Amino acid sequence: MTIGGPSIPQKRQLNTAIPGPRSLELLDRKKSFVADGVGTTLPVFVVAAGGGVLLDVDGNSLIDLGAGIAVTNVGNAAPRVVERATAQLQAFTHTCFMVTPYEGYVEVCQALAELTPGEHAKKSALFNSGAEAVENAVKIARVATGKDAVVVFDHAYHGRTNLTMAMTAKNMPYKHGFGPFAAEVYRAPMSYPLHDGLSGAEAAARAIDVIEKQVGATNLACVVLEPVQGEGGFIVPAEGFLPAIAAWCRANDVVFIADEIQSGFCRTGSWFACDHEDVVPDLITTAKGIAGGLPLAAVTGRAELMDAVHVGGLGGTYGGNPVACAGALGSIEEMREHDLAGRAAAIGERMRARLEALRADFPVIAEVRGRGAMMAIELLDADGKPDAARTAAVSAACHQRGVVTLTCGTWGNVFRFLPPLSISDELLEEAFDVVAEAFAATA
Ligand SMILES: *Cc1c(COP(=O)(O)O)cnc(C)c1O
Repeated sequence: MTIGGPSIPQKRQLNTAIPGPRSLELLDRKKSFVADGVGTTLPVFVVAAGGGVLLDVDGNSLIDLGAGIAVTNVGNAAPRVVERATAQLQAFTHTCFMVTPYEGYVEVCQALAELTPGEHAKKSALFNSGAEAVENAVKIARVATGKDAVVVFDHAYHGRTNLTMAMTAKNMPYKHGFGPFAAEVYRAPMSYPLHDGLSGAEAAARAIDVIEKQVGATNLACVVLEPVQGEGGFIVPAEGFLPAIAAWCRANDVVFIADEIQSGFCRTGSWFACDHEDVVPDLITTAKGIAGGLPLAAVTGRAELMDAVHVGGLGGTYGGNPVACAGALGSIEEMREHDLAGRAAAIGERMRARLEALRADFPVIAEVRGRGAMMAIELLDADGKPDAARTAAVSAACHQRGVVTLTCGTWGNVFRFLPPLSISDELLEEAFDVVAEAFAATA
């Protein structure tokens, strides 16, 4: 019998305080042997997961509103992922695609060509992590354009490697003390409707003015943009912002790169967040939701751009590992078979209704925003200042009650709700009952 996956009981049940005694013991061991720099949001140690719950070492069942940061979109241990990855593990675990290739890698790239926005000829290269995909997208854009500069936005998150730290906006904890950072990275203002009150066209004009005056299109290789920003606060740019930036890039021989590492693979109610405004990026980076929890990432884009790089210029020992590729094919099958984009849209409507009701009761909630199953609330105090303290208090109260919630945002004042798309309506409703309780308990 398998544990985990959809077969584990779909209920919230607490047998101990959170974290329980076994988790506390393991936390002690963690303190002895795991570097302190590797933090944990909620230190319950997991033994099984699936559907919408995580089961911990103390027998507690928690409702999962985080999906391992938008990774287990198809659910944990989803049947097709387990079947395909298991078969692959038994056949072979590694050859290195750069030495002797295998079909799974090609199949994943073919699926990416079909699923990503745009009808043009597309090719892909596979990697291990989102940061690695972003780095390689920049490499490709530089070779293809013969230019150096990279433009990113306020509140952006692109990873923790040297180049991607330079691209990420927030100092603590991602960059603090880790410099010097990579050169030729410039930051433009993002469209952030709650705070800037600008239309998409106005915000795009503001960003383009900064880009033209401070960088110059003739020096600029690429603009990298999250169509819905992730760590930065689930910021949905005003309508028209994305298409205007993409159009400016096209007109100026600048590669437009959509970082869909968090927003991709059905999360926002369509396959990719760019789809909502019919934006077709030149290159798109994907990771997180791609393989049902196995480590895989990709750069996909216009064939002529992807082919600009010399043979041997892209790759890595493990990139496109066969087990991870099998996981991706299983995950894509789950998404297609169960119309998980449709499911994400339905989950999003349910969450929005609950969050809007909550906002009516608790004025600290300044805004409900998001797309599909990528929803957030931003907390501002009575003076209109970011309320990180209340955000942390409510989150802790959710954790104590057995609901895994995540926060984000430049000021740490945003709740992001990212349930696995395999969660039931009943569990989702129960989770938001708990969130409401947590707001009341911290009032
Ligand atoms: C998580 C994330 C990354 C980095 O991915 P890793 O796999 O953690 O390296 C890059 N961009 C976005 C938008 C992300 O959400």
